[in-house]
Amino acid sequence: MIEATTIDDKVDAIATEVVRAGAGVVDETGEYPRAALASLRSAGVLGLISATEVGGLGEGPAAAARVVERLARECASTAMVLCMHYAATAVIEAHGPIAVRERIATGEHLSTLAFSEVGSRAQFWAPLSAAETAGDHIALTARKSWVTSAAEADSYVWSSRPVAADGLSTLWLVPATAPGLHVRGAFDGLGLRGNGSTPIDADAVAVAADAMLGSDGGGFDVMLGTVLPIFLLMGAGASVGLSDAAAAAAAAHAASTRFEHLDQSLAEQPVTRSSLGAMRVRADAARALWSGALEEAESGRETAALRALEAKAAASEAAITVTDAAMRVCGGAAFRREVAVERHFRDARAAAVMAPTTEMLHDLIGRAVTGQPLFG
Ligand SMILES: Cc1cc2nc3c(=O)[nH]c(=O)nc-3n(C[C@H](O)[C@H](O)[C@H](O)COP(=O)(O)OP(=O)(O)OC[C@H]3O[C@@H](n4cnc5c(N)ncnc54)[C@H](O)[C@@H]3O)c2cc1C
Repeated sequence: MIEATTIDDKVDAIATEVVRAGAGVVDETGEYPRAALASLRSAGVLGLISATEVGGLGEGPAAAARVVERLARECASTAMVLCMHYAATAVIEAHGPIAVRERIATGEHLSTLAFSEVGSRAQFWAPLSAAETAGDHIALTARKSWVTSAAEADSYVWSSRPVAADGLSTLWLVPATAPGLHVRGAFDGLGLRGNGSTPIDADAVAVAADAMLGSDGGGFDVMLGTVLPIFLLMGAGASVGLSDAAAAAAAAHAASTRFEHLDQSLAEQPVTRSSLGAMRVRADAARALWSGALEEAESGRETAALRALEAKAAASEAAITVTDAAMRVCGGAAFRREVAVERHFRDARAAAVMAPTTEMLHDLIGRAVTGQPLFG
């Protein structure tokens, strides 16, 4: 029975009581985290960033990032589902129909991003898929390569080439029930095993002309202005949570595991202690940069966008380093899955290759600090 009152307390209680309990099975079986999602739905967490006028909690990107961070400490798959739902919700809140906004606010509607494509891969800003006028509707034809919650979401925030305008892309709100959509296979990945991210093909899927989110050709601006800021903070949050979980689990294992012949714990070995210290420094440095980025986003500082780019790059790489160190500190016990760090080690690999990838972020930051345009 969850009796917390503030949203942070509710999320914390659900994370501790429900998400933690299901995380192992989600990872082992690749099952979508339905129990976790049901609890988050009924606690109003899906409507976190929906405006109060449609029944939501009216929070912003920083609050979303904090939810994702808390969930990632227990189950990174659940965190990823929420991350993509909030990224899509940000677009729907700005450009979508009120009926869908209301259903998201009450937790009845789960959404996700369908940006990545087979043809343009991680370069999400350049969709190759088509949107063509067909009588009184628009026909969408695409090969989407990665859609988190593909078989579970109620809608997709979908990118295509523009119908008629100039520009790199146009965005659409596509109902998951639209005829001609084909969710391809089940997700079988190294980590985030329950995030349900699979390809979706669209074969002349008919959507109404008013399913357009924003203007024809205006998709790139929405990606940059609405999706990227919240996505970077949430992606960084997921990695910060993973680093924290791995560092804490490794410290607990080292403190409680004994060399009986020496009457000492593993943590009393200087090399182990030093590794644990180095992990803590790296995890806390990523957390500090992320916290600073959240504060800058909340206060609207001029450097907020740059800091968000930095936070995702730093946190993604820190999570890989920290979880790798946790595997070493915990030794064969971790390799044999006796300690819960190997799941974090696998889950932590995803953020760095999720667009914008670390390499892209470094390039973007390099552009920003030398006064060059971010894209083009
Ligand atoms: C678990 C998971 C869930 C996902 N969920 C979604 C989702 O819900 N919606 C969605 O739209 N997408 C999603 N993605 C897709 C993700 O954002 C990337 O598009 C995808 O991971 C890219 O994989 P790829 O094999 O196509 O990479 P490639 O494009 O083949 O990239 C390979 C390497 O090339 C590098 N590279 C490519 N272009 C550049 C560049 N311009 N500068 C520097 N380096 C570059 C990359 O850094 C990368 O390391 C998800 C991915 C994962 C792993």
